[in-house]
Amino acid sequence: MRTQVAIVGAGPAGLMLAHLLSREGVDSIVIETRTREYVEHRVRAGVLEQGSVDLLDATGVGERMRREGLVHRGIQLRFGGVDHRIDFGSLTGGRAITVYGQQELVKDLIAIRLAADLPLVFEVGDVQLHDIDSEHPSVSYMVHGSRTTIECDVIAGCDGFHGVSRDSVPAGVLTTYERVYPFAWLGILAAVAPSSEELIYCYHARGFALLSMRSPSVSRLYLQVPADERIDEWPDTRIWEELRTRLASDDWSLTEGPVIEKGISAMRSFVVEPMQFGRLFLSGDAAHIVPPTGAKGMNLALRDVSILAEALTVFFTTGDTQLLDEYSAHCLRRVWRAQHFSWWMTSMLHRFPDSDAYQTQLQLAQLAYTVDSRAAATSLAENYVGYEWATT
Ligand SMILES: Cc1cc2nc3c(=O)[nH]c(=O)nc-3n(C[C@H](O)[C@H](O)[C@H](O)COP(=O)(O)OP(=O)(O)OC[C@H]3O[C@@H](n4cnc5c(N)ncnc54)[C@H](O)[C@@H]3O)c2cc1C
Repeated sequence: MRTQVAIVGAGPAGLMLAHLLSREGVDSIVIETRTREYVEHRVRAGVLEQGSVDLLDATGVGERMRREGLVHRGIQLRFGGVDHRIDFGSLTGGRAITVYGQQELVKDLIAIRLAADLPLVFEVGDVQLHDIDSEHPSVSYMVHGSRTTIECDVIAGCDGFHGVSRDSVPAGVLTTYERVYPFAWLGILAAVAPSSEELIYCYHARGFALLSMRSPSVSRLYLQVPADERIDEWPDTRIWEELRTRLASDDWSLTEGPVIEKGISAMRSFVVEPMQFGRLFLSGDAAHIVPPTGAKGMNLALRDVSILAEALTVFFTTGDTQLLDEYSAHCLRRVWRAQHFSWWMTSMLHRFPDSDAYQTQLQLAQLAYTVDSRAAATSLAENYVGYEWATT
C-alpha cells in the first residue's frame, strides 16, 4: 500500500489529522490497534476549549457537538465548603468551554471518515516503523494473520502515551521531561443528572474532588486517591460517601445514581522534545501528557494536528519544508503553557502526602487570591478556555 501520510493511532489526534488532511486533498491511512467499538466507547476527556470548538466548527465536525455539547461560561472553585465562581465570559471577553465527551468526538470523526470511504484499519498488531530518518519511511503491521506494509512520505505518530512511535526514535535523540504525582484520580461515570450546572473543583482536607458531567443525564465525578489505590477497594457506596464528604456545602446536595463505569488514572506530566525525528512527527499524548486537572489533554492533541496538517499541506503542495521544520517548536510553546497551567491547578487543589499545616495555608492563600483578585482569576480563566498567544 502507498499513501502520503501513514497515521498511527485513531484517537482524537490521529482521526482529526486524517480529517484535516482529507479536506486539503492529502491522502492518509489510519491504523489502530483497538476495535472500533472500543475506541468509540473509551471514556476519557470531556472539555473542549473555545479554540477546539472553533476548529471543529470550521472544519465541518461541529454539528453534533453544537447540538449536544454543553456550553459553560464558568467553573466553581469550592473550598471551606463555599463556592467561588470564575466567570469566563467577563474575564476573557466572552469565551467559553464546551463539555462534549472525547468518545463522542471520536465517533463523529470515524463516521465522517467511513462515510467518505477513506482508509481506517482497526485491530492491527505488531506495528513497526521503518526508515523514519529517510525520505521513504514505511509502517508495517499484522492484520488478519498477515503482515502489511504502508509506504509513505511522512508518518504521524498519534498513538498515545503507550504507543510505538515515540520509542521508534533512536536513543539519545529525544529529551524527556517528566513528573509523576504521588496520587491518582478515581473517576466514575454515573447515570444521574449533574448536581451542578457548572464544574466544581473542590479543595478539601481529605483530598481533591471534581464534579463534572458528560450530558444533562450523565455525571462524571472524580476523587483524589493514593497513587497505588486499587479500584476493588472502592465499592460504589464508599465512592458516594467520600464524594458527599468532600463536596459538602450548605444548601447544596449531591444527587446519586447508578455507576456506569469506574477506574483509576495515574497523574503524570510528560514532554518529549523535539516532537519530530526525520519523517516521523509526534502529536498528542504520544509527545506529551498533562494531569487532567486543567482539562488540556484532548485540546493539545487537536491543536498539534491542526498545526501539523497545515505544515503537511504546504509540504505536499509546494515541497516547502519550513512549516514542518518549525512544527515541534510551534507546538511546544503551547504545550509548555498547558504543562504549567495543569501543574499549577494540580498543585493548588490536591493534598500532597507530605503536606503539612504550612503547605495547607499556602494552598488556601492561593485559592483565596485566585477568586478575590481579578488579575488572578483572569489568569485561570484565560488558561482554562485556552490561552492564545498574541503571535502564533
Ligand atoms: C485513562 C485516561 C483518562 C483520561 N481522562 C481524562 C480526563 O478525565 N480529562 C482530560 O482532560 N483528559 C483526560 N485524559 C487525557 C486525554 O484523554 C488525552 O490527552 C487524549 O486522549 C489524547 O489524544 P491522542 O489522540 O493523542 O491519544 P489517545 O487518545 O491515547 O489515542 C491514541 C490511539 O492510538 C492507539 N494506539 C496505541 N498504540 C498503537 C499502535 N502501536 N498502533 C496503532 N494504534 C495504536 C490507541 O489505541 C488509541 O486509540 C485521559 C487519558 C487517559 C489515558
